[in-house]
Amino acid sequence: MAVTSIAPAVPISRKEAVRAICCSDDELPELLAFALAAKERFKPGVITYSRKVFIPLTNLCRDYCGYCTFRRDPGDPGAHTMTPDEVLAVAREGEKLGCTEALFSLGDKPELLFPEMRETLRRLGYKSTLHYLEAMCKLVLQETNLLPHPNPGLLSAEWISRLAEVSPSMGLMLETTNASLLAAGAAHDNAPDKLPARRLRTIEEAGKRNVPFTTGLLIGIGESPEDRVDTLLAIRALHERYGHVQEVIVQNFRVKPTIPMANWPEPSHGEMLRAVAVARLLMPDVNIQAPPNLSAPYYDDLMDAGINDWGGISPLTPDFINPEKPWPHLEQLRLRTESKGQQLRQRLPVYPEFLPALVSRSSSQKSQLLAEKLDIARNADGLARIRSAA
Ligand code: SF4
Repeated sequence: MAVTSIAPAVPISRKEAVRAICCSDDELPELLAFALAAKERFKPGVITYSRKVFIPLTNLCRDYCGYCTFRRDPGDPGAHTMTPDEVLAVAREGEKLGCTEALFSLGDKPELLFPEMRETLRRLGYKSTLHYLEAMCKLVLQETNLLPHPNPGLLSAEWISRLAEVSPSMGLMLETTNASLLAAGAAHDNAPDKLPARRLRTIEEAGKRNVPFTTGLLIGIGESPEDRVDTLLAIRALHERYGHVQEVIVQNFRVKPTIPMANWPEPSHGEMLRAVAVARLLMPDVNIQAPPNLSAPYYDDLMDAGINDWGGISPLTPDFINPEKPWPHLEQLRLRTESKGQQLRQRLPVYPEFLPALVSRSSSQKSQLLAEKLDIARNADGLARIRSAA
């Protein structure tokens, strides 16, 4: 195995990445050392996180991903679409706790499948879930100092432009480029929005519009190690073309008793470390994130594999996507981060290196509001202006 042949400071090739992601346990420490060195060249001595509130605008979704605990059908226990008052109450509470991000997570286009959602939207006064999302992002922007980061699923070019007026960044997990996972009984059976080509198109449209974009891959949903490499390469290709991928999330599948994939094996910690390290070496100058709550209690090992960000951490709202995996307390996260010789810094939903382009493009009335809120939220380094101690 040629982990030793990896050249420092050069993005590795597909061949090198496939060899690295399949490396033996004996070779793993060497791979991690290369990845950590690449991280230290990129952002030395610092790990960031975004202090956020989670706003699950609606948990109705037209897809049925086999690993999802979030989605509901209308009438299911816990099925809910938040009212504007509920959205604002969560955002205001988060603001008091020093949050700077309102992460809007929601199911993909539920009104296309459910008449109940069409009725809810009619009562609220909106034509679609995306119209409602746009209005709620604007409400949060106007009424609080939080910056919205919407995660609404597939988006057209028009909707990317519209949401970019009311949010500095947005996201869509690519998850995998393996389209065979849409087959009967696989993870994306009956999940039409998980067709890789459609997700790649959304990420590309965001690139064409210069929208700072968060994406990533899911580990352990039926894909092979080679698929993981190809998913990362697809993200890298779009980033090389448009320069807009601000963050790549490496997220591991966690089993839950209530999901269709309740009997699937979880990926091992070693698989997760290999995937993070290879992501870092394929994209040495892109922010790489892994959620600590999904690797607890060994989450600090992820720093050895080259992450430079812990993602969104909420002091208030539970992780609605993985509700049984609470986030580590922020003080605990700080201590574990510092034990690796890294400083924990609070960032905004948009990373500092993407701020200059954002501020300069503000021209319309709504973008002016976004520019003003960015100015309030940021410090001189482009990170979060701290209002309460972590
Ligand atoms: S993972 Fe997202 S798209 Fe899939 S079912 Fe859950 S909410 Fe819907």
